[in-house]
Amino acid sequence: MKSINPELPIVVTGGSGYIASWIVKYLLEDGKQVRATVRSLKDTSKIEHLLELKEKFKDKLSLFEADLMVDGSFDKSIEGVELVIHTASPFFVAGVKNAQKQLIDPALQGTKNVLESCNRISSVKRVVLTSSVASIFGDNIDSLQVPNQTFTEEHWNTTSNLTHQPYAYSKTLAEKEAWEIQKKQTRWDLVVINPSFVMGPSLSKRLDGTSVEFMKNMLKGVFRTGVPDTKMGFVDVRDVAKAHILAGFTPNAKGRHITSAEVMPMLGVAKIIKENFGNKYSLPTGNLPKALVYVIGPFFGLSWGYTKNNIGQPLNLNNEYSKIDLRITYRPLKETFIDHVNQMESSGLL
Ligand code: NAP
Repeated sequence: MKSINPELPIVVTGGSGYIASWIVKYLLEDGKQVRATVRSLKDTSKIEHLLELKEKFKDKLSLFEADLMVDGSFDKSIEGVELVIHTASPFFVAGVKNAQKQLIDPALQGTKNVLESCNRISSVKRVVLTSSVASIFGDNIDSLQVPNQTFTEEHWNTTSNLTHQPYAYSKTLAEKEAWEIQKKQTRWDLVVINPSFVMGPSLSKRLDGTSVEFMKNMLKGVFRTGVPDTKMGFVDVRDVAKAHILAGFTPNAKGRHITSAEVMPMLGVAKIIKENFGNKYSLPTGNLPKALVYVIGPFFGLSWGYTKNNIGQPLNLNNEYSKIDLRITYRPLKETFIDHVNQMESSGLL
């Protein structure tokens, strides 16, 4: 049990990211002081929205430069704080050329780096880590091995590796390492958020994030001939951000938390958008035959292994613990997708 002093600043690593930006905004709106770490203060295109928040909330937001791959990089930002929310980690599944360098090293070394700073700095009492359902399971087919074909926080991804689902592997290694480091001391505890695929409005105009890119591709007709018959968990970015804050400030919060509103097929996303935006976008109307996905999938970053183990396979995620331990409520995905499309339209991204 850890009570966090709400008067002290809170560190959010990777503050420029899609999820982290909402965490920063909600903390500021709640009157908290925030230290957001970003890779570069010079790259204003990535931090434009944070600079606007800094202007709006004046002395409440400070930006610190820190890189996951530079030892000690986070020390300055963490000095004197009790709560560290560690979200920074590369998130992409397509176009991976060197998984070790692009995904595993920053996720794993970066987590070690941040947690070693927390070990060095005696004020830290709690770390909230953004992990993923990708550290719970690797492929949908893995659900055939678990009771009721339903994943819970008890499960760990045992099927991803450097060549198959390397992003999921990076998240699994990083979360495992975080628990190992935490167990070696008692001053700070660890609360982990394991979101499914995060959707919903972005606070920035960036298009390079995987969540935003998925919606852009959906609306721009990339999937107009059809989508793979894959079930995915989805959750609203605003609910994920709130989950991190609740994880930080709920004294008894404990363990891992599957943070996911609902599982639906990819086609379900298109259906909801079509119901609300009519024929404005070239949306898919059906699933692609699995044989065709084997052929064209690799052009979209879907390996044969992914197709074999995910297309047409079941997926169930039990989100009950997140609702009990953190008292999270999940908004309906209809609202998530509508707000996301509206934000992309109003930001001129389409
Ligand atoms: P995002 O927008 O791409 O954010 C990733 C953040 O990590 C960015 O701030 C990025 O900095 C930072 N980062 C990457 N490499 C770094 C490095 N070497 N040093 C310092 N910072 C680095 O992605 P997101 O969707 O918000 O993801 C945030 C976290 O949520 C990640 O841990 C991801 O694995 C996890 N997650 C995401 C989803 C999802 O569907 N979006 C689902 C489950 C879990 P720059 O701004 O400089 O690029």
